[in-house]
Amino acid sequence: MEKVDAIIVGQGISGSLLSAQFLKNGKTVLVIDEEKEITSSKVSAGLYNPIVFKRVVKSWMIDELLPVLNESYEYMESCCNQTFHTKRKIVKVFVNEEEKAQWLKKSEDQNFNQYLGKEISEQDFDGCIKPHHGLAFVNNAGNVNVKLLIETWANYLKTKHSYIANHFKYDDVHLTEDGVKWKDYEANHLIFCEGYTAKNNPFFPNLPFVPAKGELLTVKIDNLFTAESVLNKGVFVLPEGHQLFRVGATYVWDKIDEEITSQAKEELSQKLEKLIQTSYTIIDQKAGIRPSTKDRRPILGKHPKLPQLALLNGMGTKAVLLAPYFAKQLFEHLFKGKDIHPEVNIARL
Ligand SMILES: Cc1cc2nc3c(=O)[nH]c(=O)nc-3n(C[C@H](O)[C@H](O)[C@H](O)COP(=O)(O)OP(=O)(O)OC[C@H]3O[C@@H](n4cnc5c(N)ncnc54)[C@H](O)[C@@H]3O)c2cc1C
Repeated sequence: MEKVDAIIVGQGISGSLLSAQFLKNGKTVLVIDEEKEITSSKVSAGLYNPIVFKRVVKSWMIDELLPVLNESYEYMESCCNQTFHTKRKIVKVFVNEEEKAQWLKKSEDQNFNQYLGKEISEQDFDGCIKPHHGLAFVNNAGNVNVKLLIETWANYLKTKHSYIANHFKYDDVHLTEDGVKWKDYEANHLIFCEGYTAKNNPFFPNLPFVPAKGELLTVKIDNLFTAESVLNKGVFVLPEGHQLFRVGATYVWDKIDEEITSQAKEELSQKLEKLIQTSYTIIDQKAGIRPSTKDRRPILGKHPKLPQLALLNGMGTKAVLLAPYFAKQLFEHLFKGKDIHPEVNIARL
């Protein structure tokens, strides 16, 4: 029997960040993932935005989340000797004068001015954006190449003998007095990071998931000048280099599968054409299922009756921003007895 501090089921962005906390803090871990070709993390655009555009307010807990985001991805990048986090500005394209006035007023406010930039000149974008009511930068945004993070982090875990490619079967778990046994491993903690498939987890039945299907396009645009910034108006247009851009995303709650659809292609193309006035070619389309929850908050913590079991899930539309902070919080709860934020604690359910 090999003994580890924890077994983590699932190496999407949640399981990756949680296992990073273990290694960073000198704990041993075994990560198990079935290596599905399509997962929410693998198709994700990986964007994070400190502002909720609809109401021009800060994203929930942004001032606390950003420092942990920076420190977590920096740590993983240094382990893997690979860059996957890029800090970027988002170009907000105003849809009317009212929206612009509200934005510019708030950008004077001390509470907002690190995120809301002043109006910028259209000339910087070389006439490639359709007529609009002005542009402004969102600062302190960015994106993570999540697919690359997952691949390189799995390789790093392998060098630490901390990774197994396998489909985890719930029947293979034996609960002991102070931990679990799984195949040839013994652990103090078994932590589930399975994304939306956690709806089948018999240890945590009836979790309030409201999975949301999303689709994205990869398009080639020869003469869209956005430098490193992300355009946003109805859709985001994220530069990926070599004149390729990710355009997304759609939201569907009633047909949950990983199939790409002509409706999503049409919806995203129409929104893109409302934003840019230059031709483009669709290169690729992907679909995935976000593990969203009823109250739009993550779910984490120990099982109410079996303390050797725990869960980190429910990252919804904002995994890149939320997972670093809440992976750290779950780790500190398990090993240092720190409290879990009441709005994300599994005990709230
Ligand atoms: C189209 C789209 C665009 C998105 N864009 C963004 C974005 O721009 N920014 C952002 O922050 N978020 C975005 N998201 C949301 C984000 O991708 C998800 O919140 C996030 O990927 C969830 O990560 P996770 O690790 O919790 O779950 P998952 O990514 O689903 O990972 C779960 C892992 O567990 C494994 N697993 C499950 N069951 C088992 C088992 N029994 N045995 C072994 N392995 C198992 C799976 O193989 C998988 O690797 C987007 C999502 C979609 C679909």
